[in-house]
Amino acid sequence: MRSCPRCSLVNPDTALTCDCGYSLKVEASAANPVWPLERILRLRGTGVTALILGLACLFLVLSPLRRAESGAAKQIEYSSKFAAAAPALLGYGILLTFFTRRAAKALDRRAGIKPIVWLGGIVLVLISVAFMLFVEHKFREYGYRRPHVEPIRVEPPPPPF
Ligand SMILES: [Zn+2]
Repeated sequence: MRSCPRCSLVNPDTALTCDCGYSLKVEASAANPVWPLERILRLRGTGVTALILGLACLFLVLSPLRRAESGAAKQIEYSSKFAAAAPALLGYGILLTFFTRRAAKALDRRAGIKPIVWLGGIVLVLISVAFMLFVEHKFREYGYRRPHVEPIRVEPPPPPF
């Protein structure tokens, strides 16, 4: 329900004109853009994909970390790439999935990329680096040095006879 700005009569959302003749159509403007549904759905689809990938990355970090905590495994396969990617993917995914319209506005190139987008990007990079260092620290704490690097085995030279 929207009230008419001219006569303040309350009209249903579907009404295009008020009884007084005032046009109730929302005019698209830079300040209040009307996004085509297709663009919103595409952004939301990207968001859901990023969320799923982010959760997968998080699993690929937390799962080896748990194995390290139990101390059972001699060697643990782990790539810090996943720790770096998880916060960025989750942040981007949450933004696009749940705040799609706001994200569409912020990412609109016609209006110029907003400083908040740069700021958000920098914050995500800092969170990623912090998370990566935290995970590495945890691995060391559990007694695994550089868990993403295979230990180098130096073969003893063969006996000369
Ligand atoms: Zn009216």
